[in-house]
Amino acid sequence: MANFVQKVAAGVPFFAKEVRVAVSDRTPFMIARPRSVNILPSKRCNAFCPMCPIGEANLKGEKPDPVELTAGQVSELFDGIKDLSGKGVVVSFADGEPTVWKPLWDMLERGRDLGFAISFTTNGYTMKEAQAARVASINPFNVGVSLESLRGEINEIMRPLDGKGTQKTIDCIENLLAARDQAGADMSLNIKTVLSGVNYEYVHEIVERFAARPGVMWTPQPFRGTDDRMWIHDTKRFAEVIEHLITLRTQGHKINASDKNLRDFVTYFEAGMERVDNAPNRSGEETLDAPRCQIGFTSIFVTQDAQVRLCPYMEPVGRIGDGQTLRQMWTGKAAQERREQIAACKVDCELSCTRRTSILNKAKLFLQR
Ligand code: SF4
Ligand code: SF4
Repeated sequence: MANFVQKVAAGVPFFAKEVRVAVSDRTPFMIARPRSVNILPSKRCNAFCPMCPIGEANLKGEKPDPVELTAGQVSELFDGIKDLSGKGVVVSFADGEPTVWKPLWDMLERGRDLGFAISFTTNGYTMKEAQAARVASINPFNVGVSLESLRGEINEIMRPLDGKGTQKTIDCIENLLAARDQAGADMSLNIKTVLSGVNYEYVHEIVERFAARPGVMWTPQPFRGTDDRMWIHDTKRFAEVIEHLITLRTQGHKINASDKNLRDFVTYFEAGMERVDNAPNRSGEETLDAPRCQIGFTSIFVTQDAQVRLCPYMEPVGRIGDGQTLRQMWTGKAAQERREQIAACKVDCELSCTRRTSILNKAKLFLQR
C-alpha cells in the first residue's frame, strides 16, 4: 500500500504536465513544460544495425563523428531542465550506444539526485554482471533494452553482430533483473522492438517471455525507412499479429502502446512505404491524415553537438552553451515558429514519444512499473 501511495505521489507532477499540454494545445495559453528530454550524447556505437545511420556508418567502416556532449554541457542542460520542468520529467540517454559514452554513469547519478526520471537505452552487448550491478546501484527510473527477436537468425538480420548479439542482449535483460532484485532497487526495464517485415511474426515471443515479469514492459515501434525487406507488406497477417498482442495485454503482459496505437501501426503500413516521408523538415509536404502532433509541448531533443530541438526533424531552437537558458529556448521566437510548423505537420512519423496515449493508459503503465 505504501508503495502504491509513493507511486501515486510520484505521478502527480507528470499528471500536472499532461494538464499543461492539454491547455496549451487547446487554448492560446502556452503553459506547457517538457515532460520528456531525449539526449543523444554521442554518435558512437558498438553495433552495425542497417536500419540506423550510425550502424550503417559502422558497417561501411566510417569513422564515427568525434563530436560528443561533455559532462559540463549535460550538467548545464540538467540545471536548465530543473529550472524549466522541476519534477515529473523523463530524461533519457538514447541513440548511439550511451554505455560507450564515458560520463554516462556520473550523469545518471546526477540526474537521479536532481529528481528526474532518468533512463538510458542500450543494445546490451556489454551489460555483463558487473555493469548490471553498477546500474542497479544507481537505480535509474528505467533502462531500455533494444531487442528485435529472441531468435538469433531473425534478430541478427536487423541487428547483425557476431552471431552472439541476441544472446548478449537476452543476458543483459536477465543480468539487470537479477541485479535489481539483489540490490532491492525498483528500476523498470523497457524492452524496445522495431516492428518490421523481418520480425513481426515472432515479437509475441519477447512479450510472452518478459512483459509479464514485475517491472518489465515492452514498447513496439514500427519500422521507418525505405528498406523493402523491413517494410510490412502483408498487412492482413500483421493485423492478426496485432490482435494477438492485444490479447496478451489482457493476460497481464505490459505493452507500452494503447490498443488504438497498436491498430494504428496497421494503418501506417497499409499506407505503403512510398507514402511515409523519411526526409527532415517535412512540414507542409504531402502527408498522411495523422492527428495533430503535440511534440512541441512535451519534448526536447538534444544532440551530440549540443543543439536543442522540439521536433528531431526540424531546425534547432538553440544550442547549449550559446548564452541562452533552456527556458529562453523553450519560450523564445524560434520555439514559437517550430510550434507553428509542428501544428502544420501531419506526417505519420510514429515516434513513440509522439503517440497519443490516453492519460488513463499512461497512469496504468506507470503504476504497474
Ligand atoms: S544499437 Fe542503436 S545506435 Fe547502435 S547501430 Fe543499432 S540502432 Fe544504431
Ligand atoms: S509528427 Fe511531430 S515528431 Fe513527427 S515529424 Fe511531424 S512534428 Fe516532428
